[in-house]
Amino acid sequence: MSTKVCLVLTEKTIEKNLSALEKYKKLIDIAELRVDYLNQSEILYLRNFPERAGIPCILTVRRKSDGGNFMGGEGARMTIFARGLAFASTNPIKNFSYIDLESDFDSSGIEEAARAFDIKIIRSLHAKSPVKNIVKTLEGLRRFETDIPKFAFRANSLNDVSELFKASKLIENQEYIVSVMGPYGVASRILSKKLNSQIVYTFTHEYIKKNKLEQELIDPEKLEDLYGFSKIDNATTIYGVIGKDVNTSLSPKIHNTGFKRKNLNSVYLPISAVSPKDALDFANLLNIKGLSVTAPFKGEIIPLVNSISEASKFIGAVNTLVNENKKWFGYNTDVDGFEQALIEFLNEKDLRRYKVAIIGAGGAARAVAQVVKALHGKACIFNRTAEKAQNIAEKYNFKWALLDPINIKQLYNFSELIIQTTNAGMEPNLDVDPLSFYTFTGKEKVFELIYRPETTKLLKRARTAGCRVCNGYKMLEYQAYHQFKAFAGKEYL
Ligand code: NAP
Repeated sequence: MSTKVCLVLTEKTIEKNLSALEKYKKLIDIAELRVDYLNQSEILYLRNFPERAGIPCILTVRRKSDGGNFMGGEGARMTIFARGLAFASTNPIKNFSYIDLESDFDSSGIEEAARAFDIKIIRSLHAKSPVKNIVKTLEGLRRFETDIPKFAFRANSLNDVSELFKASKLIENQEYIVSVMGPYGVASRILSKKLNSQIVYTFTHEYIKKNKLEQELIDPEKLEDLYGFSKIDNATTIYGVIGKDVNTSLSPKIHNTGFKRKNLNSVYLPISAVSPKDALDFANLLNIKGLSVTAPFKGEIIPLVNSISEASKFIGAVNTLVNENKKWFGYNTDVDGFEQALIEFLNEKDLRRYKVAIIGAGGAARAVAQVVKALHGKACIFNRTAEKAQNIAEKYNFKWALLDPINIKQLYNFSELIIQTTNAGMEPNLDVDPLSFYTFTGKEKVFELIYRPETTKLLKRARTAGCRVCNGYKMLEYQAYHQFKAFAGKEYL
């Protein structure tokens, strides 16, 4: 069974919907005309839509209570469906191919007409939260044997999504559509084929951006170009990045490019999870072979894995997990990635002549401290929470101080190389500058681990003062190359 890619059309006019369709036509199989988004006056022209679209179309009028925009009564909705189905043609491409009717919509007249012209009925249920028995729910939706049941729900965790994958194994030979809404559903959209869903729903880039739904929805270009959707099959090996809000992470781009270049049947997904356990349970169920681990799970996940490298133990954080025969092994490639990027930035391998200020004392700072020590640098760690700075400093025989204007002298004293490891200034907190009390002289070299945005407020100030600066993108790339080797057993480049 192949999963069809559907573009949901949410423009206010038929013409605008047709242009949106044109943009993505090569990447989709079906278009869903959401009449609930159309201007009232446009409804007059919906009958010709399938012929003009030139691909199979779904006619949908979603009510507000089901997550749509339609505010009229059920009679008015019935009239819209009747208008969409009227004067059915013997040439099927001139008719809507599907109509989406909610399970509680009393629409027997419309259904008769649809069946007479071989227009398939999608019998849908949109739940705001998961249900206990997914199989029973799907089976209960089918009123007529040719109906395609559709169950959409908003997941509260990956655990809810896991239940859907389990249910899909029990109804493998039936036709159905499932769709998980919310940030925890993104991985399941990309893996719709593994769910045996007849359709995966995508939205235009413009709709996603306008409604700030980047953490929840995918456009057809991203689905194909970034995740290689058309090539995913049962033999595809799955990898991913786990953490909070990782659905816009840059890591899928790096890894999927590597898989493509090496001709490997593998896909790397963003997997937003509520906790490390939520993420690992999902990974175990889907037999995911390797994971990148990001904030805030790098330390929390350690007790849940089978073993970790000596370096990860020392740092207290893992950013890479490899599944070998159902056992998880943890590594830390941030150290290698940072070392490579720092040496490239400074064009020297020995930090003996540097006094280094490390700003922050979280997981990333630990990797940084490890590298600064290994390259023989002297350092002072500045952090908002002094004890955390002290803990790391004592491990490496570095100095430490509270990140506060009272320690400005100490900061100037260690300012030849400033390594900013906090997440202050990272999207979405663009206005924060963790060194706002410090004036750059222009002589400092400044390496910041943040890569989104490319230039933070702090980095901009440093550059304007004349400092040499570097953001975290090269580190991200280099640590990913080491992960790729651990995942695929091959060099990235
Ligand atoms: P983490 O373990 O959560 O640590 C966060 C650190 O930031 C802590 O020291 C925290 O101070 C400090 N902090 C947070 N908000 C602050 C503020 N408003 N003012 C001052 N300090 C603040 O996070 P992490 O894993 O170390 O990651 C930190 C950053 O490094 C993130 O931006 C991440 O994207 C980046 N990173 C980049 C790469 C790369 O490849 N380029 C790799 C790893 C990490 P307290 O201790 O006082 O809470």
